[in-house]
Amino acid sequence: MNVVLAETPLDIAALRAQFPLLARTVHGGKPLVYLDNANTAQKPVCVIEAVDRFYRERNANVSRAVHALGEEATGLYEGARDVLARFIGAGSARELVLTSGTTMATNLVAYSYLLPRLAPGDVVLTTVMEHHANIVPWQIVCQRTGARVVAAPIHANGELDVAAFIGMLGPQVKLACVTHVSNVLGTINPVAELAAACRKHGVPLLVDGSQAVPHLPVDVRALGCDFYAFTGHKMCGPTGTGGLWARREILAQMPPFFGGGEMIREVRIEGSTFADPPARFEAGTPNIAGFAGLAEAVRFLEGIGMARIAAREQDLLRYATARLREVPGLRIIGEAPHKAAVISFMVEGAHAHDLATLLDLEGVAVRSGHHCAHPLMRYYDVPATCRASFAFYNTEAEADALLDALLKARALLA
Ligand code: PLP
Repeated sequence: MNVVLAETPLDIAALRAQFPLLARTVHGGKPLVYLDNANTAQKPVCVIEAVDRFYRERNANVSRAVHALGEEATGLYEGARDVLARFIGAGSARELVLTSGTTMATNLVAYSYLLPRLAPGDVVLTTVMEHHANIVPWQIVCQRTGARVVAAPIHANGELDVAAFIGMLGPQVKLACVTHVSNVLGTINPVAELAAACRKHGVPLLVDGSQAVPHLPVDVRALGCDFYAFTGHKMCGPTGTGGLWARREILAQMPPFFGGGEMIREVRIEGSTFADPPARFEAGTPNIAGFAGLAEAVRFLEGIGMARIAAREQDLLRYATARLREVPGLRIIGEAPHKAAVISFMVEGAHAHDLATLLDLEGVAVRSGHHCAHPLMRYYDVPATCRASFAFYNTEAEADALLDALLKARALLA
């Protein structure tokens, strides 16, 4: 239990010192201003060392060896499951399938849970603000079965139209899917309210927590959803790590999606029987070093305290938003009252990619493009946006650097 008060100020300089990459320079000595955290977060030394230590001292496969190294590797991997399960409020580590990230988690639900349940005329309800990882897997299984994907609309300020979402629930909906926090708009969706409505209609709800777990305290049971997906590299952990939490009774009903070693009870040529969840869904050799690192990332985040992280990032959001409003012709896309520290913007007369390239030359790393959210770009009728996304280790001075670089770029492009 983390008892750090949200009000206790963070020692940002000391925190930053734990992220070697933040000390880098780019383009001939410009200090790096890393504002692409929604894409992937930087890694603290403890995570880097955990991965390094695994390969130096403990490298062995999991669950296959009785020797000391094998037991240690298995302990690390299963220990990471325990740490992650507790971090997101799971009732038990057995409810947590370790995956390569959110994309693997949504695909697992699509093939193992959804596909066997879909019939012609059925519907998967998603929203206009989703990442492609929370749209395309549903489309692929719908195409095979005659079902279809529909999307709840949003308001112009980037808030979900909650009434419309709830109005679209019904017996034909076999799964509802929503992002907890939008990677483009920053909007924090009212997941508990949506989950309660879904429950009333008997519709299971999957939540994409990719942008929430790194930035907010998350308790999957308190949210009341049925599936919760997250990805490790956005929470200061290694790439190729993540998880799918699901209610135990749902996991128990799901057949395997991938077959291979480690997920079976007995294999005969005529047929096989399968292990209980979560092993049933974890065929093959997992990213053991990655999960050793992810467990350290969780300990690191918990050491700071998720409430303090959320509060710090709200301060940064307020400060950076106010500063960006000083840029003539700059339009922020996504101004929901309840949002995370993600600021998508466009500047009149400048293409997002040109802008991002000029910012990069000043050392400021932002993402430009469609952010894997084509339907959202279509909704706003824009081809691309620039996106500055903050983490707790960013500073007000970095928001100032963004502003300076933007003013310079704007003068060049005008
Ligand atoms: N969902 C959201 C909201 C995201 O921002 C991302 C990554 O950008 C994903 C899903 C996919 O995550 P991954 O590529 O780690 O599977």
